[in-house]
Amino acid sequence: MNYQHRFTDSKDCALPIGKAVCVGRNYADHARELNNPVPSAPLLFIKPSTALVSLEAGFSLPTGKGEVQHELEMALLIGHTLSDASARECLQAIVGVGLALDLTLREVQQSLKDKSHPWEISKAFDGSCPCSEFVEPAQLGDLQNIDLQMNINGEIRQRGNTRDMLFPIAGLLATMSQHFTLLPGDIVLTGTPAGVGPLRSGDQLELSLGQSQRFASVVQ
Ligand code: ZN
Repeated sequence: MNYQHRFTDSKDCALPIGKAVCVGRNYADHARELNNPVPSAPLLFIKPSTALVSLEAGFSLPTGKGEVQHELEMALLIGHTLSDASARECLQAIVGVGLALDLTLREVQQSLKDKSHPWEISKAFDGSCPCSEFVEPAQLGDLQNIDLQMNINGEIRQRGNTRDMLFPIAGLLATMSQHFTLLPGDIVLTGTPAGVGPLRSGDQLELSLGQSQRFASVVQ
């Protein structure tokens, strides 16, 4: 594992690699596409630091465990400790914004859900969180009005806008911080819009965040 947090301009980032705190079903259109109810409170889960790999360097998929699906999500890099934090403190703690893929072993997840078992082995496995370089939030403007898109082999596969989050960023982070202290170097994944689907070896990915940030990747 040679992942480290990076910024698109300066490249260097002194923050350690932490956990990823994630939210499921944060866009109604995605909850519907998997026939899940829209939640009344954020559905939180964690990926460990060993899940993080560089998106731009290309990444590999687990084999022999069924379909691996992509979930394209805005990722927030946390720069200050957040514990029982206010919405304002949460927004001030965001030092980077990027894109991450919440890779999901969908068949494994379904069988775990059927048995009411925890999801970890379908969501938190090694390499399950390819993450892009970050930009400073000020470069993007209003984080609650950002277009996200991913093309695979030249076709649009996921497209959304952060305005459609069921639990917007400030309140989402505040809720997360009531359960899990967020430490400098942790990241937060903010949920996926509709359009999740399978990834295959050789897929060429083009991802965009807002109007100006573009990232390319390949499934090895
Ligand atoms: Zn997700």
